[in-house]
Amino acid sequence: MIRSLVTGGAGFLGSHLCDRLLAEGHEVVCLDNLSTGDVANIAHLMGNPHFSFINYDVTNYLFVDGTIDFIFHFASPASPIDYLKLPIQTLKVGSLGTHKALGLAKAKGARFFIASTSEVYGDPLIHPQPESYWGNVNPVGPRGVYDESKRFSEAMTMAYHRYHGVETRIIRIFNTYGERMRINDGRAIPAFMSQALRNEDLTVFGDGSQTRSVCYVSDLIDGVYRLMMSDYQLPMNIGNPEEVTILELAKEIIQLTGSRSKIIFQDLPQDDPKVRQPDITKAQTIIGWGPKVNRHDGLLKTLKYFKSKLNA
Ligand code: UDP
Repeated sequence: MIRSLVTGGAGFLGSHLCDRLLAEGHEVVCLDNLSTGDVANIAHLMGNPHFSFINYDVTNYLFVDGTIDFIFHFASPASPIDYLKLPIQTLKVGSLGTHKALGLAKAKGARFFIASTSEVYGDPLIHPQPESYWGNVNPVGPRGVYDESKRFSEAMTMAYHRYHGVETRIIRIFNTYGERMRINDGRAIPAFMSQALRNEDLTVFGDGSQTRSVCYVSDLIDGVYRLMMSDYQLPMNIGNPEEVTILELAKEIIQLTGSRSKIIFQDLPQDDPKVRQPDITKAQTIIGWGPKVNRHDGLLKTLKYFKSKLNA
């Protein structure tokens, strides 16, 4: 049986990845220190003989018994309010954690996959963003702890590939949404949905003209799996290229919920990217990937999840 390790496996993306790997017939070892992850995301897997969970901080020396074929390093705070609250942990998991996970991959002869981010492009001066763009990141701004730790992760991953011959994959994940996001993780979609469901004002930052391109979680996970199984070593963007302004997104969510909420405008956080849209030519041509779930359907599924959470 193929054995996969997922760091951050109790998080939003990590837990969906555990589900997918189990469905593909892998044995899955999930590591998470639950700093932003939640055992509720993997509760349905407990008792599955092919699944095990270890509560562990991957910035510490990493040892896992037995063979490992694939390592997916997904552990990291990932929402702006989380990495503002946990700046040092964010830097540590991207640097020390990536180093430990790569060391384990080398020791086990495993293939290594790093969850990087569109944040490596910072506030981009090229639009949409192809993988060849080196980015526009403020290293000392509030988002620098996340952006730079992910940029370091990519550099470390390529170093292990070039120097130690470890097989590596690098994904740059653009904004993703869906079930198991935390209601209070501060990101736009959970914030707007929980506000709309409670008939509270939706908090749009700035004038809402900044754009994002949001990808539904099942599409993202399919991109992760395809990239891992491919032989492509350089960074690859995965995200839905359909771009929307944040104001438009807020209006869509009010409409979907039928809420009485109004929109209020608050200060734009420092270094908030003005635009973001993936160029997915590589994903389309190299791994045959493209998004399948449109925003309307994805938002409806997500809304159902947040409704059940708020009523629980
Ligand atoms: N945003 C907003 N209101 C909120 C939360 C976020 O207007 O309550 C904006 C935020 O300033 C950014 C966009 O929505 O421009 C996406 O923010 P998110 O935190 O989801 O992710 P980011 O892409 O900035 O990492």
